[in-house]
Amino acid sequence: MSAKGVIGVKKLVRCSCGLEFRAPSGEATTDAEKHLIQAVKRHAKDAHDLDFGEEQVVAMMEIEP
Ligand SMILES: [Zn+2]
Repeated sequence: MSAKGVIGVKKLVRCSCGLEFRAPSGEATTDAEKHLIQAVKRHAKDAHDLDFGEEQVVAMMEIEP
């Protein structure tokens, strides 16, 4: 997927292990954000055995320049 033509702001979450997660493009911002949150939560559980709440993930979000 290319980054061109994306409407709205792109969000990025950086895990403490260095992994980066980006909201998938081509979706509505709210859907993309939801998927991003799910991906981060899944990674935190699988890779770090951590249970992240939705709000914690949201707090980790950065705006992609
Ligand atoms: Zn990680």
